[in-house]
Amino acid sequence: MKPNTKLSHLGRTAVNAPGTVNVPLHRASTVLFDNVAHLHDTQARWEQDEQIPTYAIFNMPQSLALENAVAEIEGGYRAVTYPSGLAAVAGALLAAVKSGDHVLMTDSCYGPGRKFCESFLTRMGVETTYYDPLVGAGISALMRPNTTVVYTESPGSHTFEIQDIPAIARAAHEKNAIVIMDNAWATGLYFNAIAHGVDMVVQPATKYYAAHSDVLIGLVIANERTWPMLKKSTYELGQRASPDDCFLTLRGLRTMGIRLKHHHESALKVTKWLQTRPEVKRVLYPALESDPGYALWKRDFSGATGLFSVELKPCSDAQIAAMIDGYAFFGLGYSWGGFESLVVPADLRYGRKVAPWHGGPLVRYSIGLEDTDDLIRDLEAGFERLNG
Ligand SMILES: *Cc1c(COP(=O)(O)O)cnc(C)c1O
Repeated sequence: MKPNTKLSHLGRTAVNAPGTVNVPLHRASTVLFDNVAHLHDTQARWEQDEQIPTYAIFNMPQSLALENAVAEIEGGYRAVTYPSGLAAVAGALLAAVKSGDHVLMTDSCYGPGRKFCESFLTRMGVETTYYDPLVGAGISALMRPNTTVVYTESPGSHTFEIQDIPAIARAAHEKNAIVIMDNAWATGLYFNAIAHGVDMVVQPATKYYAAHSDVLIGLVIANERTWPMLKKSTYELGQRASPDDCFLTLRGLRTMGIRLKHHHESALKVTKWLQTRPEVKRVLYPALESDPGYALWKRDFSGATGLFSVELKPCSDAQIAAMIDGYAFFGLGYSWGGFESLVVPADLRYGRKVAPWHGGPLVRYSIGLEDTDDLIRDLEAGFERLNG
């Protein structure tokens, strides 16, 4: 099946959607068994990894439909849902580490994920060191005997560095470490992380999968090597997304193919226009030929999405606020990937260690599904306000 055909059909079976196009919303906690023998038999089959429900935490129709669809899109073996993307970041890490371990984390990672390592993992006795996102095969030199996880995110949050994931994965696997990747920006449609050597994919499905700014949800997708540890740890943590949020995410993913194509085309148009503006020093978007990540992006990715940053020429905070505050179509707020365009001053307050940002003021844009003529007019008026 080609990607859009997959998106239209995945997740639905004769059992979970008998006679309907969609999997009907299925709310339940307790699963009833016919008799004691059935209870024991079901439990045993669950332990053997059959996709069979014993209780609401695993394998209920709604979450299973979504998990199987996302596992297929991301090129993985099995997946689990989490109540947010951040919970999925934490869930993937907790599945893979134990006290005394060492984690190598990209310095360009999602800020709250860094916080999780610095605070929570430190308390657990797990040490995190940060590496330059552009390290490539050089990650080898940073590996220690107790390094169990190399965590990647490409492109990086706010600064959009494209990582050489195959080179990093080869070096990590030589030393037997697990590679985790946050694949929010590209999704499995535009970057098959598992095929490029990643063992566990974090997918903040709040973004392009659910896409309507009304759901908080995450998934972790495992390959066969990491599935047992992910299954065990998710079960022990008691984490999962609600059936309602799984329902909405499955609805969202049906249109992800055409949405991403539109986001890509619109973002290219807008970024090329931004490059012509005298107020702009640089546009950080790997799909632009001028971007330092372009060659790697071209080699490994099959598309780009709607999120990028703009480095402005030196200007004051007040000028930036004047520009942002008057936008008609760019909402000012966190998150991205929805149908509506958003803007936020890039947030580097989490304090990078080895690859700090030395450039000028950064503003991050998420291009939604609006017509680009309207968006460009809105951005143009913003620059007029910035210029006073
Ligand atoms: C938004 C985001 C997350 C967290 O997702 P939530 O669902 O908002 O918790 C994780 N990683 C990246 C790269 C993100 O952009």
